[in-house]
Amino acid sequence: MKLQALREGQFVPFFQPQFNYVTGALTGIEALARWVKQDGTVVYPKEFISYFEDNGLIYDLDKCIWEKTCIQLANWRSKGYAIPSVSVNVSRRDLYNDELPGFLCSILDKYGLDVTSLHLEVTESAYTENTTQFLKALELLKAHGFIMEMDDFGSGYSSLCALKDMPVDVIKLDGDFLSKDDSSSRCGKIITAVVYMAHSIDMPVIAEGVETKEEADFLKTVGCRFMQGYYFSKPVSAKDFEETFLSKVGFEMNDFHDAERHDRIDFFDLNSQNTLIFNSFVGGAAIITRGQNGKVRAVRLNDMFLKLVGLSREDWACRDQNLLEWFDGPSAALFSNALDSAIVTGEEASCITFSPDVDGRGREFWSHNRLRLIAQKVGLDVFYLNIEDITERVRLSRRNQNLLKAIEEREDIFMNAAEQVNMFFWKYDIKTKDMYPCSRCQKYLDLPKLVRNYPKPAIDMCIFPEGEHYIDIMKRVDNGEDIDEVMPLTSERVPFRVRYTVRRDADGNPSVAYATALPIDDFS
Ligand code: C2E
Ligand code: CA
Ligand code: CA
Repeated sequence: MKLQALREGQFVPFFQPQFNYVTGALTGIEALARWVKQDGTVVYPKEFISYFEDNGLIYDLDKCIWEKTCIQLANWRSKGYAIPSVSVNVSRRDLYNDELPGFLCSILDKYGLDVTSLHLEVTESAYTENTTQFLKALELLKAHGFIMEMDDFGSGYSSLCALKDMPVDVIKLDGDFLSKDDSSSRCGKIITAVVYMAHSIDMPVIAEGVETKEEADFLKTVGCRFMQGYYFSKPVSAKDFEETFLSKVGFEMNDFHDAERHDRIDFFDLNSQNTLIFNSFVGGAAIITRGQNGKVRAVRLNDMFLKLVGLSREDWACRDQNLLEWFDGPSAALFSNALDSAIVTGEEASCITFSPDVDGRGREFWSHNRLRLIAQKVGLDVFYLNIEDITERVRLSRRNQNLLKAIEEREDIFMNAAEQVNMFFWKYDIKTKDMYPCSRCQKYLDLPKLVRNYPKPAIDMCIFPEGEHYIDIMKRVDNGEDIDEVMPLTSERVPFRVRYTVRRDADGNPSVAYATALPIDDFS
């Protein structure tokens, strides 16, 4: 029956769109085989792919799907639609067929399409099955100019390291990682790692099997923008695809979901404008995550961050990246608290931390950290972290504190000495007429800390004698004259020796005077 259906051309491609979740743009399409029976029932690949693979007819089925895809693509282009490339599936059995590159080129040619119109999806399991042969086949297709996509990446057993040797241009992350039961968040971590690795070798990642908004949002936070899945659309017939995704003017991602989540800045997006902002940010910035094990890791760091902590990118890669281990004990606790508070309040949280050896070379580092939660998934919290190097400030303020202590000690000695010789002293500002009495003056003569319009208040309080004499003395001080005179002071009119020493400013004008008053009795 299937054979007859194949002969009768009942196998057709259905089309599933791929989107850039950040911009909403339609970025690609996957063609998936369907058997549409004469009565209209649709039969899915699991009913026929392995059958054709086993009886060696898969190449015939695929050729038919590829050609129909080319016809459809040319048809859409002729209608003026801006169609992205279409990805077709290439069975592992097709790969080793010598005719393959020639056939693909011939159909592209026949329908006036260029070689990049058709992306070729090969499965990761084909790589593990026969690595050498697989790589050879891929090199050949690449030599013809085809864009190769590694399908179902992560489902096989090839290591992440193998990625760099694979002659593929795009990775399709297996949908199984978006597991519904990811309570241990292992899948989330694997996705993060794969996306991180792929991007570090400049390889775009398309996530497959995206079914919910939460999954799409999570992928976005780890930097994966390209997505395909039921959340956006099931594979649909050419006619439905055209109606839904092509006919509409200005198709927007928002047709599928509200835009409200787009407010979070996508700092993970390696190629976006935000990356530029992130990297050229004036301060040190990082995207950090906290997993269920409590470990805090920096997933992204801008150049300034590294500069502030004194590490190169290579140093960074070598360090154990649990950030909490960088801090001393109390700081680690403070930092954890700030993370908690950022989650609870949804607002910015901040803390000051100390790292005794931030660069592994004994460098001390005080940081003012500001944090904000930017995304959350079960078992993984993602934060934006801004750091400010306050090491110098802390050092200075400590030095100031020490200085202040030293000054206080000296003042104490001086005050004790003044007490012992029964001396009063004050400072007089010639320009403002402000007078600053010593603490003994304040204590014994009831003077405030600052006496304005001196000497009038002191005369009014009977500390200085009434009449022109003292006013005259002050005029002489104002004119820059040093004074040394005996006069009766306080309400008891005790004879004191009063001395003024005038200091001048840079222009030579009298500016301040330092004064002392010592009871004459004490000389005897
Ligand atoms: P595949 O290449 O990994 O294709 C993706 C499969 O996931 C498709 O199943 C698609 O309908 C399904 N899918 C898409 N979005 C979601 C989603 O959000 N959730 C879930 N659970 N599934 C989703 P389909 O069309 O049944 O195809 C199954 C497999 O059959 C394909 O897996 C591919 O390996 C193979 N296949 C399909 N068409 C062709 C073809 O033309 N040639 C060859 N050789 N193989 C084909
Ligand atoms: Ca595929
Ligand atoms: Ca796949």
